[in-house]
Amino acid sequence: MARYRGSSCRICRREGTKLFLKGERCHARGKCPVDKPVNPRNYPPGQHGLRRRFRISDYGVRLREKQKLRKTYGILEKQFRKYFRAAVRQKGVTGENLLRLLETRLDNTVYRLGYATARGSARQLVRHGFFTVNGRRVNIPSYQVKVGDVVAPTEKARQSEIIKFGLEYNSGKLLPEWLEFDAKKAEGRIVGWPTREQIPVPVDEHLVVEFYSRV
Ligand code: SF4
Repeated sequence: MARYRGSSCRICRREGTKLFLKGERCHARGKCPVDKPVNPRNYPPGQHGLRRRFRISDYGVRLREKQKLRKTYGILEKQFRKYFRAAVRQKGVTGENLLRLLETRLDNTVYRLGYATARGSARQLVRHGFFTVNGRRVNIPSYQVKVGDVVAPTEKARQSEIIKFGLEYNSGKLLPEWLEFDAKKAEGRIVGWPTREQIPVPVDEHLVVEFYSRV
């Protein structure tokens, strides 16, 4: 399946905010180009990034918000549009439906459970068949988990240094309320659907809905 292969930091610079796409590097002091103490590159990428300071249109505001959300979850435009259509078809508030659909992707669930330090590496772990859902191996990052599902690494994956590192790195992290983690068995359970407050993504989803409503 296609995916973005360019620089992650470039995405953050384009969106003008930290999207935490690189895991531990994003939190390490002085490593993130957006907020490093010396010569921070907190301006858009490209040759004229420093010079471009024009007023952004209403359309531009909505476009940037949509791009921010899409890139946070590492999804390409075509699939993202499918998520939006699915969110429209569901009952409830479209923006919240969209966020819930993105949040309950298997790769994001693996990331939230702390097996990986970034969504990108969680996606790769899933793709390589490191995880099971209810005991069955699933290697589709976009697989939608449901309430009651149990997500766990395979026996072999438990020995993986990446997963061990991820669990250790995230050991002190607070888990979202829609997830439970059994540290002894190293397995996670989905105990509810995530609400908007439980999805810590700094995006105004109403603007994303407005973007798609006008195109
Ligand atoms: Fe974004 Fe992380 Fe790169 Fe900083 S280090 S720009 S937060 S991907």
